[in-house]
Amino acid sequence: MIQRDLFPSHSCCLWLWLCKEAGFQKRSAPPFGRISAMDFALTQEQELIRESAYKFGQNSILPGLAERDRAHQSDKEMLRRMGEAGFLGVCIPPNYEGMGADYVSLGLVCEELERADSTARVAMSVHVGLHSMTLMQWGTEEQKRRWLPDLATGRKLAGFGLTEPNAGSDASSLRTTATKDGDHYVINGQKTWISLADYADQFLIITKLAETTAKAPYAAFIIDRNTPGFSSRAIKGKLGVRAGNTGELFFEDMRVHHDCRIGEEGDGFKVAMSALDHGRYTVASGAVGIIQACLDASVKYANERSVQGEPIGKKQLVQQMIASMVQGREVGRLLYYKVGWMKNQGLRHTKECSLAKWTNCAAAFDAANKAVEIHGAYGYTDEFPVERYFRNSRGAMIYEGTHEIHTLMQAEYELGYRTDKPLDYVLPSYPFED
Ligand SMILES: Cc1cc2nc3c(=O)[nH]c(=O)nc-3n(C[C@H](O)[C@H](O)[C@H](O)COP(=O)(O)OP(=O)(O)OC[C@H]3O[C@@H](n4cnc5c(N)ncnc54)[C@H](O)[C@@H]3O)c2cc1C
Repeated sequence: MIQRDLFPSHSCCLWLWLCKEAGFQKRSAPPFGRISAMDFALTQEQELIRESAYKFGQNSILPGLAERDRAHQSDKEMLRRMGEAGFLGVCIPPNYEGMGADYVSLGLVCEELERADSTARVAMSVHVGLHSMTLMQWGTEEQKRRWLPDLATGRKLAGFGLTEPNAGSDASSLRTTATKDGDHYVINGQKTWISLADYADQFLIITKLAETTAKAPYAAFIIDRNTPGFSSRAIKGKLGVRAGNTGELFFEDMRVHHDCRIGEEGDGFKVAMSALDHGRYTVASGAVGIIQACLDASVKYANERSVQGEPIGKKQLVQQMIASMVQGREVGRLLYYKVGWMKNQGLRHTKECSLAKWTNCAAAFDAANKAVEIHGAYGYTDEFPVERYFRNSRGAMIYEGTHEIHTLMQAEYELGYRTDKPLDYVLPSYPFED
C-alpha cells in the first residue's frame, strides 16, 4: 500500500521524487512509460459495442426465449442474426471481413449476450473463441483466408470438438484417430457434448495420430460437416442451455485433406490448450452477464415484494445477498478486463484466464442461487427467469475446465508445479497489423 502522505504534494515533484527513489538519473525523461496502461475506462467504441450487444439481447434473444427454453427448442435463426449484427466476427481483423474490435470488446459482447441468455454466449464461445480465434493464432495465411471471412460474417457456423465419452478433464485419453493415407488423413471416432453439433458447418477437432514420429501424438483438423463419414446427433434432457444445441459427432472413415490440419503433426494438444485460452475468456466474461441478470431480476423483485409492510429489499439479509452479487460482478469484470487487456498486448494469459473463468463461474452460480432465494417460491418456477440462470450457470462450472481442474491449476501455478512455456504461434495482438 502506497502511503500518500510520504509524497510531495506537487505532481511534478512527485515525478522527481519517484525517479530519485527508483534510482533513475535522467529526471527529464520519465522511465514509467507504461503507467498510462492502467486505465479502467472503456473507449467510446467499446461502450457502443456493449450497448449494441445489450440491445441485441433485449430485441433478438429474449422474445420467445422462455417458451423455447421450456420446449428444449434451439433457435438457428438467432445465430444468423448474431452473424448479421457482426458479433461472430467482433475481434476478427477487417482484412478477414471481421469487425476489427479489440479483445475487451469481445468480453463485453459475451457479458451482454449472456445477460439475455447463455445460449447466445455459448455460440460466441465455440464459434469465435474456440474455433475462429484459434484459427487466427495457429492457421497459415492460406487457411485464414479460406475460412475466416465466412466465419466472421456468420455465413458459416463453427464448433469445437475435444471431449469424448472417455476423455473429458483428462483430454489426453482421447481415442479418435487420424491415420495418414497419402495427401489425406482417415479419421475414425466420436466426440460428445459438442455445442452446435447439429448446426455448425465446420468443427475444429483434436485427434490422436495413428502413426507418427511426433513427440506428442495429437493433431488438430478443421473438418466440414459435408464430408462423407460425418454425422451428428443431439443430446436430450439437459439441465441447462435448453434453448441451445448440444450433441455428439461421429466420424466413420472420414477422409480429410492434409491442408485442413491446423499446426504441425504433434501440435494438436497445444492447439487445444490455445483454444481453451480463448474459450475460457468468453465463458468468464459471460458469467458476469449472468450475475448482472440476477441483479436486474433481484433488485426489481426486492423492491416490489413486501413482507411485514415493507419491501423485502429493506431486510438486511436480502441486502447481504444483493451486496454479494455486486461483489461478484465487480471482481468478475476486473478479472476479465485484465485478461482482455493481456490479449490486446499479446501476453500469455493461461493462468489469468483460468483464474477469471474459475472465479466468475462460481460467482455466477452463487448469484443465481441467491437470486432464486430472493424470489422465494416464485424463483422455483419458470414464471421468473432466475431458475434459468441457476440451471445455465451450473453448466459453466463444468465445461472448459471443471471447477476442480481450475482449482488445481491455480494451486499448481502458485506452488511452482506448473509454468507456461512460450508458444510457437501467438494470437495477433491489438491493434491488428494491416
Ligand atoms: C453444456 C455443455 C457444453 C459443452 N460443450 C463442449 C464443446 O463444445 N466441445 C467440447 O469439446 N466439450 C464440450 N463440453 C464438455 C466439457 O468440456 C466436459 O464435460 C468437461 O471437460 C468435463 O469432462 P467430463 O464431463 O468428462 O467430466 P470428468 O472429467 O469425467 O469429471 C468428472 C468429475 O471428476 C472431477 N475430476 C476429473 N479429473 C480430476 C482431477 N484430476 N482431480 C480432481 N477432480 C477431477 C471433475 O472435476 C468432475 O467433478 C460441454 C459440456 C457441457 C455440459
